[in-house]
Amino acid sequence: MPNKFNQPLGGNDMPRFAGPATMMRLPVQDDAKGLDACFVGVPMDIGTSNRAGTRHGPRQIRAESCMLRPYNMATGAAPFDSLQVADIGDVAVNTFDLKKTVGIIEKSFDGILAHDCMPLTLGGDHTLTLPILRAMKKKHGPVALVHVDAHADINDRMFGEEIAHGTPFRRAVDEGLLACDKVFQIGLRGTGYEPADFDWPREQGFTVVTAEECWHKSMTPLMADIRATIGDHPVYLTYDIDSLDPAFAPGTGTVEIAGLTTWQALEIIRGCRGLKLVGGDLVEVSPPYDPSGNTALIGANLLYEMLCVLPGVKYP
Ligand code: MN
Ligand code: MN
Repeated sequence: MPNKFNQPLGGNDMPRFAGPATMMRLPVQDDAKGLDACFVGVPMDIGTSNRAGTRHGPRQIRAESCMLRPYNMATGAAPFDSLQVADIGDVAVNTFDLKKTVGIIEKSFDGILAHDCMPLTLGGDHTLTLPILRAMKKKHGPVALVHVDAHADINDRMFGEEIAHGTPFRRAVDEGLLACDKVFQIGLRGTGYEPADFDWPREQGFTVVTAEECWHKSMTPLMADIRATIGDHPVYLTYDIDSLDPAFAPGTGTVEIAGLTTWQALEIIRGCRGLKLVGGDLVEVSPPYDPSGNTALIGANLLYEMLCVLPGVKYP
């Protein structure tokens, strides 16, 4: 019996290195109509403050996703048995104008959410999460947030600007986009502008879990606590690839040493199973600094793992 849901093109039907490089070799459609979840690219890097290149992230993540098979052998998740999923291509950003780009992204996500579709976004720099959260607020009200990152991204200004990849969660608080007592920032580390850099999010009610608190540990107990706190509140998952140690993921713009491992990343995302996820993103993959493709490969896998924990996915 043919499956009624879209399936990734199999490796026995077309060699994995061949054919159009869509996310997971899924069908492409123009919009989110009829979809439960979609992959969508936001190819931007004009919000970055150091090394750029994340405009090439979505295309490279798609290319590296060609090896992903449909079934999750560790968790048993079978996302393509119960969700209709497609790749809806990229948001047509204005690469000469950051503020216009932010507006374009918000409008695009308004359209996705109007179809009751859960977006999984291939970034792009972390600026893109702000307009997504603006769209999410209109649909779901202030959302809970699981934010995995080396950085808090709560600067008030960068070079005098309110919009940049280091400011999205400051603006999100200013604009009332977040349920602040249900915001978790995991993996923060490195050097700061001021000694109190991680105090500001705590003063807003966020829970900050530094990288040092994660070293040598399983993330599974932490995620149980997070699920208990968030309960059935709508929650958005934003994953900055620089949360990982640069030994795993060097292909990014703002590298910090002594980060998370790939198995901790899996524990975090798998630990989101049971939450009322409304979408997620994987940001800051910068292919010019990723000659092996491993950073984009990790990004592709983490996006697949996000798909596997969306509400409605079948487990054995
Ligand atoms: Mn970030
Ligand atoms: Mn970061």
